[in-house]
Amino acid sequence: MSGFLQRSCPSCGHNRFAEKIRSEPRAETLSLEELRPFWAGFHETKLFFSYHRCAACGLLFAPRFFDDDQLAELYSDLAPNMDIVPSASIEATQRSYFEAAAKAAALEGGYLEIGPDVGHVAAHAARTGCFDAFWLFEPNLTVHPHLAAATAPFPTHILSDMTDLSPVPDGSVGVAAMIHVLDHLLDPVSMLRQIHGKLRPGGILMIVTHNEGSLLRKVMGRRWPPFCLQHPQLFSPASITAMLRRSGFASATVDRSTNYFPVDFLVKQAGKAIGLKFDRLPVPKAPLGLKLGNMITMAKR
Ligand SMILES: [Zn+2]
Repeated sequence: MSGFLQRSCPSCGHNRFAEKIRSEPRAETLSLEELRPFWAGFHETKLFFSYHRCAACGLLFAPRFFDDDQLAELYSDLAPNMDIVPSASIEATQRSYFEAAAKAAALEGGYLEIGPDVGHVAAHAARTGCFDAFWLFEPNLTVHPHLAAATAPFPTHILSDMTDLSPVPDGSVGVAAMIHVLDHLLDPVSMLRQIHGKLRPGGILMIVTHNEGSLLRKVMGRRWPPFCLQHPQLFSPASITAMLRRSGFASATVDRSTNYFPVDFLVKQAGKAIGLKFDRLPVPKAPLGLKLGNMITMAKR
């Protein structure tokens, strides 16, 4: 079936790769219209474009995928991320990301974020740091008022084109952030090179992604949730480090990151998974941190 993009390795450009994991049927054998219902959310039927491993650099990626136009259309009717997880837990998770960045770099110069959603991390940066300007690239127009409120009263530029960072002065940014963005981009190297040019010497880029080298991924096999229609590639500590080096970064460190969930939420989800209702069970509401197969990467200019 035609109608999808055909691409070589988005990290190193090589054309030698071997299939590692696929759904039944493979997404690339269906049409855009057949895939549309499976674009977002969780489904009984697992459906994704077959992931191949690059023989040259080790990146796990889908050689067949949606093209730019198809992606723009699919994303245009997508709700903001993670809306089923209660907001206190999103807060705790996002605060831990910001604290990791605060340990790695001075909180000054510009703050740049690609895909800030409603601005949880940007709000921490505004409250805690000494940033002189905020550059927020967010295609979802409905959250722009939230973003403006998150960083007020500091000078803030909210832009909806995620591909063109030219409004940001070169060499001005102290901290840049991409949280669950890089594994969604068709051309991740182009984005990384642009961000590298915007960082000042010693500035850092914080990247949160899934980790396809994680134990969780090995245990779950093809049922691992990040194998889905939204990820044209998935990273391991080794493959993200190689891509960052190719994009000009001098060094990168990778850690497993923590996601916070309220205990009562986890108990309910576990109950749903085995077909029971635990709604009436007395359980604490405090957020619980779990290392769930994600990783946080700090790259330094
Ligand atoms: Zn490669």
